[in-house]
This record gives sequence, C-alpha cells and structure tokens, in this order.
Amino acid sequence: MSGTLTLVPTPIGNLSDISPRCRQALAEADFIAAEDTRVTLKLLNHLDLKKPLVSYYEHNKEFSGKKILERILAGENCAQVSDAGSPAISDPGEDLVRLCAEHGVTVTAIPGPCAAITALSISGLPTGRFTFEGFLSTTKKNRLAHLQSLKNETRTMVFYEAPHKLTATLRDLSEAFGAERRISLCRELTKLYEEVQRMTLGEAAAYYDEQPPRGEFVLIVEGAAEKQEEKPTMETALTRVQELLAQGMSKKDAIKQASQETGFPKNALYDAAMK
Ligand code: SAM
Repeated sequence: MSGTLTLVPTPIGNLSDISPRCRQALAEADFIAAEDTRVTLKLLNHLDLKKPLVSYYEHNKEFSGKKILERILAGENCAQVSDAGSPAISDPGEDLVRLCAEHGVTVTAIPGPCAAITALSISGLPTGRFTFEGFLSTTKKNRLAHLQSLKNETRTMVFYEAPHKLTATLRDLSEAFGAERRISLCRELTKLYEEVQRMTLGEAAAYYDEQPPRGEFVLIVEGAAEKQEEKPTMETALTRVQELLAQGMSKKDAIKQASQETGFPKNALYDAAMK
C-alpha cells in the first residue's frame, strides 16, 4: 500500500509556533523532504527529533520529486517542509503535491504559520476578499505587466518581497496604483521587532527611500475603489425607448421595458416621450 504526503508548516520566526500536530507528523514520517536540510535540521534538533532528510527545492524538484514519489508509492510516509511557513505557498511543494495527486497518493496539509495570512489579518485593510500575488518578477518588464494587470483590482492584494527589493517595489506600486492608495507593511511577523506600518503608497515609498528596509516584509495593498454605476438619466431612458421602437417593439412594450431597465416610472417615460 502506498504511503502519504503531509505538508507541514513551520514557524516564520517564533519557534513556539510549531504545533503539537506538526511535531507529531514530523516524528511519524519515514522521511522529510526539506527545502534546505540545514534549516530543517535545526528545527528537528529543537524538537529533539532525528529523521532522514532529503532535499527538495526549486532547482532539483523534478529529479527529487520523482524519487520522493517512488518512495511514497513503495509505502513510506513523507512530511514536506519549507524553510519557514506553509509549503507550496511561494515555496516548494506545489509540484510535489500535483505529482502525488496524479499518482493517487493521499496528500494532506496541517494548518499553521503562513506570513500572508498572518499579515492580512492584522493589516487593518478589508479581509473579506483578497488576492495573493506572491513575489513580483525581478524583470522590470514582467513586474510592470503584473502591476498593470492589477490596476483595477478591487480586492485587497497580498505581496511578498525581499528587503533589498522593497524600495523599488514600493516605487513601482505607487506609480501603478497611485500615491494615495493605502498599504500596510507587515514586518518581522511573530518576531521580537514585529511591526505594522499603515500608510499610503506615496508615504511608504518616501519613508523607505530614506530608511534602509530591514527584516522580512509582507505588503498588503488596498484594492482599487469600486466604480460607482452611473445612474441612468431621463435622456438615456428615452434613447432606450427609441432603440426598442426601432427594433419593432410596440410603444407600450418599449416603455415598459425601458422603465424596467432604467427604473423610471412608466408614466414619467410616457409623458417625456410625448413631449
Ligand atoms: N511559504 C511561506 C509562508 O507561508 O509564509 C512564505 C515563503 S516566501 C519564500 C518568504 C517570504 O514570506 C518573505 O520574503 C516575506 O515576504 C514573507 N515572510 C516570511 N516570514 C516573514 C515574517 N516573519 N515577517 C514578514 N514576512 C515574512
């Protein structure tokens, strides 16, 4: 019988965030697929666990993924971890999950630390609807195309960014969405110097032009304002009546339909049409 793949989230800064269930999953796994085995070894030492580790990361995922699948199909249980946070979220995991699912392997994920969700929840921006955008591309052309595609996005947007690219990213965000758009910069989450800066994109770009960014950041950006639907005027309602008449509708039916579409009462439309 084949084994299983379990995605195990790990702390994003505070070791106490490892849950008993995550510890148990690591303890019970036959082997662990780790983004960086040295990072995971430290976590295992902290948890007082010893486990065989295999490396699974962006640049070996094809080869390593096949090996991991073979072992699972042969009956071993694998726990997969990234360096920090939830595997498969801007981290290795997505392809391994797909590969396992394609071969009928049971895949399960333990809920736990995720920088995006932690940041969103304390951002103070609307959380009802949001889009996760991950990292912007490092090529100027692709990042501008990405931002352009989000210009009219009304949902709150979540971005990951490395500190050395933050200043340029804030400038690009401000240019693409306008300096008045609100942003919450969530820094060093779960760590000693955790901080949330709530300001406009223009203020954020100016602040980090002066101040070198330190630590890890999640950027939560307010969505574009919803476009107000224009209220129909009597003129547009009458134009609609004319269109319907031209399509061969009777005067009575045309006024009835235009009234339903525009919200103007039939009587008012009739009187205006007569004038
Ligand atoms: N899979 C991870 C997760 O679920 O949180 C994210 C991995 S991604 C490679 C790393 C990015 O997550 C960082 O560049 C930063 O944007 C964000 N991040 C990770 N830890 C963070 C923290 N403690 N505070 C703020 N942002 C963090």
